[in-house]
Amino acid sequence: MLSARRLFGTNGIRGLVNKELTPEMAVKVGCAIGTFFENGTLLMGYDARTSGPMLAKAVIAGLNATGCGVLLAGMAPTPTLQYAVKHSKLKGGVIITASHNPPEYNGIKVVWNDGIEISREQEIAVEDIYFNERVKLSKWSAIGETRDLPGVIDDYVEAVKKHVDTAAISGKHFHVVVDAANSVGALAAPRLLRELGCKVTTINANIDGTFPGRPPEPRPENLTDLASTVKAMSADLGVAYDGDADRSIFVDEKGQIHMGDESFALVEKYFLKDNPNEKVVTPVSSSSLIKDIADAYKGKIVWTKVGSVTVAQTMKKLKAKLGGEENGGIFYGPHQPVRDGAMSTALILQIMAKTGEKLSKLIKELPQYFIEKDKVECKEELKEKVLEKLISEVKELNINTIDGVKIWFKDEQAILIRPSGTEPIYRLYAEAKTERKAQKLVKEYTLRLRKIVASLNR
Ligand code: MG
Repeated sequence: MLSARRLFGTNGIRGLVNKELTPEMAVKVGCAIGTFFENGTLLMGYDARTSGPMLAKAVIAGLNATGCGVLLAGMAPTPTLQYAVKHSKLKGGVIITASHNPPEYNGIKVVWNDGIEISREQEIAVEDIYFNERVKLSKWSAIGETRDLPGVIDDYVEAVKKHVDTAAISGKHFHVVVDAANSVGALAAPRLLRELGCKVTTINANIDGTFPGRPPEPRPENLTDLASTVKAMSADLGVAYDGDADRSIFVDEKGQIHMGDESFALVEKYFLKDNPNEKVVTPVSSSSLIKDIADAYKGKIVWTKVGSVTVAQTMKKLKAKLGGEENGGIFYGPHQPVRDGAMSTALILQIMAKTGEKLSKLIKELPQYFIEKDKVECKEELKEKVLEKLISEVKELNINTIDGVKIWFKDEQAILIRPSGTEPIYRLYAEAKTERKAQKLVKEYTLRLRKIVASLNR
């Protein structure tokens, strides 16, 4: 995953442990991060991966060597660690996690003093120090110290509770099934839910960095155990987290798994009912559902490039209170403008409590769309020319070119055509009110894109 002169991808530094992400490299990255922050104290924490403590120690050695102090929070969800950086008034933090990637991967995320991941400009500054040997080691007498920081989960659970109507939720005695993916999702959410008066059943809640229960990505095919458990136990709600518990996917009382667009749209609807005219920040990959809800409840959509850091940075810049992604990331600004699985769960429960409705009904009330996907092969070096040609062909239509091309058509159809960041392909995502219309639309643009690629390939 790591390229020659670039460390950071869409979500921090990611790589195969002991192949791309070695202890030697982690020490050097720690030195570069420490040089970037100059001095002060940073937070350090990790998810349940087997390589977490090893990489954390290596990064800490680099941070201490450059004069930065470290408060070691240990194993915790990413949003818990992000909250701790802000709450403890630290200069920043480093989180060792590879989120939803398979167990053999890990990663290094760097966050600023507000808990938000650093911007691309700041990443470039760290890369410059790393690649151009600009590390500044401190004098022996100024080497940083490392101390433990206990209690980050206590503070985080209290903070989430402040942003919901705890009495309304407690009064309902919901039964919630939590699928923690054998990772840090088991550490904060079950406790939060019990404190919110819920009966909690957990699955995959033993911490195990080999992820024996299911892969850490909460895709529908990985959540069949959760869906059947919710149904078998007649629970009110099921929730599955990804490997670092910043994303959440919900299952209704009938055992239906709902994609992130739907849970985000639900939160958006009830947020805008209480806060009309607020901005809602979302990538162009989100469903038209998000736009429909914004139009119906007087919200203002701000489209961004795909990627959670861009959403968080945009929210910070615009002081927006709500953001979301189709993959189950919900950003609730009043708490913190970053993806937060436990916060999202509390918000969904609050909606169920206040409306007195089951989740299946609440989702059914949202506009329905059918999504069809396809891909077209395209060499890396042709990607830019293909995009230019495509844009020139569709520029008369209602389009947005912030990331690939998104086209909105009449009769509630839309398509996003976007070059993959990691593979030599273009991806197409079409949506429409019927399955047939979505299939027709994706087919039309797949053919069109193939023609463009072929014409430029000569
Ligand atoms: Mg994640």
